[in-house]
Amino acid sequence: MSKFIFVSGGVISGLGKGITTASLGAILQAKGFKVSAMKVDMYLNIDAGTIRPSEHGEVFVTMDGLESDQDLGNYERFLGRPLYRVNYATTGQIYAEVLRKERAFEYEGEDVEAIPHLTDEIIRRFKAAVKGSDVVIVELGGTVGEYQNGIFFEATRILKMREPKNVIQIHVAYLPVPGNLGEMKTKPVQQSVRMLNSMGIQPEFVVGRSEQPMDDKRKERIALFCNIAKDEVISNPNVASIYEIPLILDDQKFGDMVCKKLGLPNRKTNLKPWRDLVAKIKRVDQPLKIAVVGKYFSSGNFVLSDAYISVIESIKHASWAVNRKPVLTWIDSMDIEKNGTDCLKGYDGIVVPGGFGSRGIEGIISAIHYARENKIPYFGLCYGMQLACVEFARNVVKLKGAHTTEIDAKAKHAIIHVMPDQEKKMLEKNYGGSMRLGAWDCRLIPGTVSRKAYGQEIVSERHRHRYEFNNTYRDQLEKAGLTIAGTTPDGQLVEIIELKNHPFFVAVQFHPEFQSSPLKPHPLFLAFAKAAAK
Ligand code: GLN
Repeated sequence: MSKFIFVSGGVISGLGKGITTASLGAILQAKGFKVSAMKVDMYLNIDAGTIRPSEHGEVFVTMDGLESDQDLGNYERFLGRPLYRVNYATTGQIYAEVLRKERAFEYEGEDVEAIPHLTDEIIRRFKAAVKGSDVVIVELGGTVGEYQNGIFFEATRILKMREPKNVIQIHVAYLPVPGNLGEMKTKPVQQSVRMLNSMGIQPEFVVGRSEQPMDDKRKERIALFCNIAKDEVISNPNVASIYEIPLILDDQKFGDMVCKKLGLPNRKTNLKPWRDLVAKIKRVDQPLKIAVVGKYFSSGNFVLSDAYISVIESIKHASWAVNRKPVLTWIDSMDIEKNGTDCLKGYDGIVVPGGFGSRGIEGIISAIHYARENKIPYFGLCYGMQLACVEFARNVVKLKGAHTTEIDAKAKHAIIHVMPDQEKKMLEKNYGGSMRLGAWDCRLIPGTVSRKAYGQEIVSERHRHRYEFNNTYRDQLEKAGLTIAGTTPDGQLVEIIELKNHPFFVAVQFHPEFQSSPLKPHPLFLAFAKAAAK
């Protein structure tokens, strides 16, 4: 029998519901269960691909090419398994499918209504997500009480009514400590659970997110007012590393209790790999200083590093693996445009992540120039690869006016140009889910840094781009010393470039950051960290 765990949020957004979901998944997996995870988002967009990063954070790309929410990245990193289209749904997808069926007369003349038609479509997707696994943990986007996500809550209520033994609800809510009181307050959590109750949902567990651990007194109050036992109130305080959370939750017997409620056999939890990792994270103290240069998505006075969360995590995974403490610094490429590359002094390595558009691009190219000339380990991801090619063409091959046509449509030397099928799509205003997306094979050339790092000839990596290396310039750039280290298996599309006579200069058209996990760092990030540590 497949089991369903629904995780909702309360009081404030940005609570770390995703990390709670992922951590519980890691615990159940450590008990030997096959675990799947799913995120449902309440917006009407069909996917996250068309939403501004400053609004949404990172767009995480699945193997099968879905542009999804960054929480899927958290699940993959904690579960160490890939997720697919079935693991993500939006209100937009639900409506689109129901309306399609209606037009196709699939409801055979029925009056099509929110309940049961939308809720049945949602339940159908919950079931698709659990297929092949023992349990699926579904994170409900947004917070309880929002008008927009009500239909998803309703679907969970209906599923529980149909299969009471297979469904549990977990509510994750925030416990504030108002500065003037200095005391942790439970009332917002109580009210949040009341709101769930008013929708006909009684959570089996309440997870309290707070700065400090919750004490017994707060647990008792929440238990009393939320109709659960004290043990079923779980404390999830802030910690130095998110990878500690599975251990913190397991210490409170969360996994054991979840199994009991779901009627799953309670097996021993083997969290040794996580314990070893956390011990290492705490132990390493020699810093590995990495500068991440991008055009930053700032919102007011805050830098939303969420837009690059997978890149950040991948750098951390690799640093720990080489026994170094990752120290990441954001460098806004606009600052480099204004004040030059002095700010890049003293770093062990430089990373340029993916991006779109023209803002701050000359600053990025200067940073790449700096890394190349000063022999600082450089790792370019997607845009970071394309712009490395532009930099090389301009400053080594001396091609004046070298650029990507994304910025200069009439560039004299279009080193990077739009892929032919992409040009057509853009003319048709076909922007949704239409980039070159998802996993594609890449063949690595013997003798290259990349081939050595991966230790195999064919690798599969995830993509998200519309532009590509222009093969017209291949010979010219190669003759000047650029190594094409990886291409599509047919040799047509350049996927990796490298430079010789440099401690590490590797740039990739794909997004390796989508396949790194703390227990299994990505081979290229690892090779980069090794070079930077030297
Ligand atoms: N803007 C570039 C392209 O569309 C790079 C995309 C990216 O970095 N994800 O090809």
